[in-house]
Amino acid sequence: MNVLVVGQGLAGTLISYELFQKKIHHKVVDKGLTNSATMAAAGICNPVTGRNFVKSWMYDILLKKVDETYPKLDQLLSIQAFKKVKIWRKLTTIKAENAWLNRTDDPAYKTFFEGNGLPIKKSFFTGYEAHYIGIVGARQVQISGLVQAYRQWLKNRSQLIEHSFDELELEIKPDGFLYLNEHFSHIIFCQGAIPNKSGYFSYLPFKNAKGQSLICKSPLYMEKDLVKNQFFLVPQGDHQFWTGGEYEWNAEGTNPTEVFRQEYETYINALFEDPVEIIHHRAGVRPCAIDRRPFLGRHPLHSNMLIFNGLGTKGTSLGPYFANHLVNHITENTALMEDVNILRFQ
Ligand SMILES: Cc1cc2nc3c(=O)[nH]c(=O)nc-3n(C[C@H](O)[C@H](O)[C@H](O)COP(=O)(O)OP(=O)(O)OC[C@H]3O[C@@H](n4cnc5c(N)ncnc54)[C@H](O)[C@@H]3O)c2cc1C
Repeated sequence: MNVLVVGQGLAGTLISYELFQKKIHHKVVDKGLTNSATMAAAGICNPVTGRNFVKSWMYDILLKKVDETYPKLDQLLSIQAFKKVKIWRKLTTIKAENAWLNRTDDPAYKTFFEGNGLPIKKSFFTGYEAHYIGIVGARQVQISGLVQAYRQWLKNRSQLIEHSFDELELEIKPDGFLYLNEHFSHIIFCQGAIPNKSGYFSYLPFKNAKGQSLICKSPLYMEKDLVKNQFFLVPQGDHQFWTGGEYEWNAEGTNPTEVFRQEYETYINALFEDPVEIIHHRAGVRPCAIDRRPFLGRHPLHSNMLIFNGLGTKGTSLGPYFANHLVNHITENTALMEDVNILRFQ
C-alpha cells in the first residue's frame, strides 16, 4: 500500500500520523497555507458548547482518542502542543444562567463542573468582576504549531511534496493513481474548505464558515485557564493569548479583515490597562458539512479515492478518532459509521 494524502492541515496531519503508526508508506502534498482553518484555530476541545451548554457529540469517546493521540504527537515532534485545561465562562444573561442551572441537575454533565457547578464571582481583569462557571474536562491543542512541526518532520523524512496539488496531473490507473511519476494505491483528500469549489468531492454539501483570530501579547496577561467573556482568551505562553471566533457563512476569500481586527482590538484593550500588542492576525475557513458531521468515505466511482473532511468547528476533538476510523476502514475493511459516511448524501 502507498498512499497520497492531499492537504496537511489538521485533517491531513492526523491521517498521515495514523498511516505512520500502521507503518504504511505514504506522502503528503501541501502548498503550506498561512490562512487555513488550522492556522487560525484555538484548538479547544470543549465538552459543553453553545447558548444551551449542550454536551458535544460523542465527547467522551472522542476525548479518549484526543488524550491518546496528541501527547504521542508531542513526544514524536518534541513539542508541547497539548494541555488539559479549565474554561471559565461568564454567564452573560439570565437565560444563560437558567440554561446552565438546568445542566447542573443532569448527571451526564456532572463530570464537567468545577466544584458544584454554581457560578463563582471572579476577577480575571483589573477592576472587572463577574460571575463565571468553571468547566473542566476541556483540552487545548496548539494545532497551528503542531502542523508546522509535523510538516518539518515529514520534510526530514522526504515524505512532503511541497506544492499545490493539481487534479490535471493525477492519472487514474486500473490499479491506483499516478501522480508526479509515482504510483499510489490510494489517495485521501484532506483539503479543508477548498474542495467545495472544485474536485472529485465537490458534490458534497459543505456549508463553510470563515473565522478570524488574533495572537496578542500583554505583560499583564498571566492566565493559565481559558476565559470566555464575550470572546475566548486562550493562553499561549509568554504573556500571549489567542482571541477570535466569528462565523461568516459561505464567505468569499480567506483574507483577514480590518473590521474584525478593530472589533476585537477594542474588546481586548478594554480588558487590559495598557494597549495590547497584536502579533498575528489570521483567517481561515472552517470546512463544515451541512449536517455538522464529518465527511469520510470512498468516491462513488473510484473506490480507492477517499475523503477526510468536514471537521467543521470541532476538528481538534473529532480529528484523532475519525482519522483512526478512516484508516482502519482502508486497512482492515471495518465499516464506517453511518453518521459520517459520505454515502449519506447519495
Ligand atoms: C477562527 C477559528 C477558530 C477555530 N477554533 C477551533 C477550536 O477552538 N477548536 C476546534 O476544534 N476547531 C476550531 N476551529 C476549526 C478547526 O480549525 C478545523 O476543524 C480544522 O482545522 C480543519 O482542518 P482541515 O485540515 O480539514 O482544514 P484546513 O486547516 O483548511 O487545511 C487544509 C489544508 O489543505 C491544503 N490544501 C488544500 N488544497 C490543496 C491543494 N490543491 N494542494 C495542496 N494542499 C492543499 C491547505 O494548504 C491546508 O493546509 C477553528 C477554526 C477557525 C477558522
